[in-house]
Amino acid sequence: MVENSNMSRSAVVIDPDYLKHDPGQFHPERPERLKVLLDLPKELDSQSFALLPPRAALRGEIEPCHTSDYIELVRSTSEKNRYALDGDTVTCRDSFGIGLLAAGGFLKLIDSIEASEFQNGFALVRPPGHHALRDRAMGFCLFNTVAIGAHHLKRHYGVERVMIIDWDVHHGNGTQDAFYQDPSVLYLSTHQYPFYPGTGAVEEAGSGKGEGFTVNIPLPAGCGDGEYLRVFEEIVMPIGAKFRPGWVLVSAGFDPHRSDPLGAMNVTEQGFGAMASMLLDLAERYAGGKIAFLLEGGYDLNALKNSVIAVLRRMEGESEPQPPVGIGGEAIQPLVRKVLDFQQKYW
Ligand SMILES: [Zn+2]
Repeated sequence: MVENSNMSRSAVVIDPDYLKHDPGQFHPERPERLKVLLDLPKELDSQSFALLPPRAALRGEIEPCHTSDYIELVRSTSEKNRYALDGDTVTCRDSFGIGLLAAGGFLKLIDSIEASEFQNGFALVRPPGHHALRDRAMGFCLFNTVAIGAHHLKRHYGVERVMIIDWDVHHGNGTQDAFYQDPSVLYLSTHQYPFYPGTGAVEEAGSGKGEGFTVNIPLPAGCGDGEYLRVFEEIVMPIGAKFRPGWVLVSAGFDPHRSDPLGAMNVTEQGFGAMASMLLDLAERYAGGKIAFLLEGGYDLNALKNSVIAVLRRMEGESEPQPPVGIGGEAIQPLVRKVLDFQQKYW
């Protein structure tokens, strides 16, 4: 058998077209976010990484997650120079097309991993997606890319258990909603709370058949690497192990970074790297290594770039830095206890 030489490699989806979505001057979700990442594939070791150009998602691929009226509304914004879908979600003529390219880039990454062309990958796309609801744009998001990816895995590949972990500083209300009654998709979120968008309390745990398959970990402002790693070690990893995912999707927002202007957390790039490592291990153990990272928020350009690099290095197999990022944050142990006590009836 001829060995597939790509198989040890990771894919990075990125494209200059992602700069074309312009929400207007002074908007934090600006094209520069992707511009600072554009050269990454060239800077990375070509033995370990390959550039995967995106494709646009087809309407049929986003329809499981959005109503036709809503898709038509977003399409109609391409006839206007500027349109405000909500207070902070503003489009230009290219936004609809770039929203499809963001979703399609993620789907192409998933397809390439399913086809064993790559082991895993990172879709560096914008706009972000995790606030987008079935019929409404929200919080800079047009289409819910990670939800579209999870549906694709279920429908196209018959994956029975998809785990979505969302470490963006904001709660992914759109993703939670998309699978609230669906036991085949486990949604776990760490987020600053109380904070935008207001959802994500411990007690929001899914409903009907989906009860128990939404796990919210609402964190107080000020949490850093120690607190996040404690939460990963004590909640995310054990529940993930019990769920035994066939696939892992990561809504990787870098706005919990200590330099981020929107969030009030203290995570460092090494902290994101350590979280990525744990998830890579989980995917290796249960999902044959199948894991796809998706860029959500992250608004300090340096912090964003360095954090993405830290995650990519871990995907490449880089080991723990010395000294390793330690588990700390004893102060949030009562919250960890509260989440575990609440989740105990499910896990
Ligand atoms: Zn965010």
